[in-house]
Amino acid sequence: MLDGKVALVTGASRGIGRAIALELAKAGAEVIINYKGSEDKAKEVKELIENLGKKAHLLPFDVSDPSAVKSAIKKIEETLGKIHILVNNAGITRDSLLLRMREEDWEVVLRTNLFSAFYVTQAVLPLMLKERWGRIINISSVVAFTGNPGQVNYASAKAGLIGFTKALALEVANRNITVNAIAPGYIETDMTEKLPEKVKEAFLQEIPMKRPGSPEEVAHLAVFLASDQASYITGAVFHVNGGLYRG
Ligand code: NDP
Repeated sequence: MLDGKVALVTGASRGIGRAIALELAKAGAEVIINYKGSEDKAKEVKELIENLGKKAHLLPFDVSDPSAVKSAIKKIEETLGKIHILVNNAGITRDSLLLRMREEDWEVVLRTNLFSAFYVTQAVLPLMLKERWGRIINISSVVAFTGNPGQVNYASAKAGLIGFTKALALEVANRNITVNAIAPGYIETDMTEKLPEKVKEAFLQEIPMKRPGSPEEVAHLAVFLASDQASYITGAVFHVNGGLYRG
């Protein structure tokens, strides 16, 4: 389905990004694995992809650092020469109530979850324009729609990604490039593992399916959106949340 396509997944060393990288490879894509610090985990993803008989490349850089992004993408331009699929997935949380939120927690969350999409997409878009084909998938969150106490920074960044998705979709619609967002609910990863048990219990109570989602349940949608089958879908937001929010 994705044979001949090159995909860059940010934050692909763990969690949802890891699952997306693996599923894209299973569908035939050559995958560039971005990460920041988890080198061993990223190498493991590379090995798993190579065991599938597909090509994978490690590309560590900090998505919140514009000059690091530019030089990493330049390296890809000079070596592989193309990127068809971009998944803006890397993200972090720094939770606290607004009254107590430190300016640095506001800033690092906005930079890592939202500014990153601007930096990486701006660097990658010329390569998609050259290929006359592109798929951009932004990983937002259900909290962009519902809000969540303690996550004013994170919800702002994830809501920003929705506007980013819709506006960019209009800019590139006639270039055979689609731009869509996925808004996952409660997915079992390191990010949610660190939540207090009480908070996890409360989430589960609210989810009609009464269970968290798996990274693969997000990844399957990403693969579809990356495929030719999704060619007429752009500027859209998809909810993957077990019925938690039905926007
Ligand atoms: P994890 O914490 O499990 O993984 C985060 C990934 O992002 C890691 O691979 C990490 O790499 C990478 N990363 C973090 N900061 C940077 C950075 N500055 N530069 C490059 N890579 C970075 O998170 P999830 O898999 O749970 O989340 C993935 C995405 O899905 C995020 O955008 C998150 O906000 C979103 N999401 C998650 C939900 C959930 O319930 N889990 C729900 C809704 C949305 P490394 O370890 O190498 O630093």
